[in-house]
Amino acid sequence: MKELFRAIPQVTKIIEDDRVRQYLSCFYMSEIKDIIDSCLTKMRKDISNNSIKKLDYEICLRNILDQLDSENPYSLRKVVNGTGTVLHTNLGRALLSKNVLKNIENVCSGYSNLEYESATGNRGSRHSHLENLICKITGAESALVVNNNAAAILLAINVFSKDKEVIISRGELIEIGGSFRIPNIIETSGAILKEVGTTNRTHLQDYENATNENTRIYLKVHPSNYRIQGFSKEVEREQLVKLAKEKNILTIEDLGSGALVDLSKFNLVKEATVMDSLNSGMDIVTFSGDKLLGGPQAGIIVGKKELISKIKDTQLARAFRVGKLTIAALEATFRDYLDTNSINELPVYKMFNYQLSELKEKAQNLAEKLNAIDGIEAKIIEISSTPGGGSLPNVKIPSYGVAVESNKFSESEMSEFLRNGKISIIGINKNMNYYLDVRTLLEEDYQVVIDRMKEL
Ligand SMILES: *Cc1c(COP(=O)(O)O)cnc(C)c1O
Repeated sequence: MKELFRAIPQVTKIIEDDRVRQYLSCFYMSEIKDIIDSCLTKMRKDISNNSIKKLDYEICLRNILDQLDSENPYSLRKVVNGTGTVLHTNLGRALLSKNVLKNIENVCSGYSNLEYESATGNRGSRHSHLENLICKITGAESALVVNNNAAAILLAINVFSKDKEVIISRGELIEIGGSFRIPNIIETSGAILKEVGTTNRTHLQDYENATNENTRIYLKVHPSNYRIQGFSKEVEREQLVKLAKEKNILTIEDLGSGALVDLSKFNLVKEATVMDSLNSGMDIVTFSGDKLLGGPQAGIIVGKKELISKIKDTQLARAFRVGKLTIAALEATFRDYLDTNSINELPVYKMFNYQLSELKEKAQNLAEKLNAIDGIEAKIIEISSTPGGGSLPNVKIPSYGVAVESNKFSESEMSEFLRNGKISIIGINKNMNYYLDVRTLLEEDYQVVIDRMKEL
């Protein structure tokens, strides 16, 4: 045992080794030292436990290099999404386009006119960079961007209905993932929730009967991630707007994913767009930046000028304001909506738009390469992808997947191994099957999958 302990090299010797030094391209020296320390500590423990029988410098170094190989210096990092869920909330929702990334680099690597008017030399407003563009594209009178849609809706309700009543249909009191619940948002905003109708059916009369001198807002909420089917009824926007005008009540719609285009052109079903909601006369509409818009996390508030300007003047709007990263990303994303072809180039829409034959070819290529690996059997299967991001719960988009089997490991062992590589690979483990949906795989992901399967 003494000899084994003596075989453990000095840290100073290890960090001089060129094979270790090459990791300085991705780790800081202090991190490398920490990793070496923890490897050596583990070795000492293993020697004490009698679980190491032989040790020399090379064995020891191999151990450390393996550890360096398996560790990733960053906590937030790239993963391979093989789930087929395009707007996967847990995996970062919308992918940003090349245009967006270029603009972020351009704006954020140096100083910018974030709050500066070059023409006059005066202080400018950060809101000005996005407002005209969003208005041009949505047809809204005015727009404001905040941190996310949860903030947008909280802000709008707080500004117009603090200590007053917000009327909402029981069929729209939704919860979406990540603990966003409409009743809690209304409570937190300081307003009083007044629910009307029933879960499946709400009539105009219900809104009218519940309206009193304390009522400030009729709130409509897109049921995002679920649908009420069968014997059901909701009040049309136009009807609600008409009643609101008579009673002098504000109408706000939380559209959630907030599509700006007709989704039926993208393998999806038609949904009310932001423009549809505004055209129906809604005073304020809010939606997310990183769902069907295909941009960065943000909450976009559009609507009547005097209302938006009231919101802008509040401390909450200041607290929820976005930074230059978001503004740069969102401006480039909205600019892509100025042209039909560039919408198709947004990564989210590119993924929705794949031809089935294209996906089949991708799956066949991957399966072929995986089948060339010893002990692995891969075959292509017909599956369906989902839009995700709490959007379009009923939509299943036909797709292709590659189902993988190993002659040594179970599906769950394989899935764990793939999740725990340097780049995590996340697939679907269902009915004793493990598969990857090729719809959400990027060009560079295929090699990652092949390399990891070789390691398996
Ligand atoms: C997604 C969603 C939200 C929350 O939006 P975030 O941008 O994630 O804060 C709120 N309301 C609806 C209807 C949604 O679909």
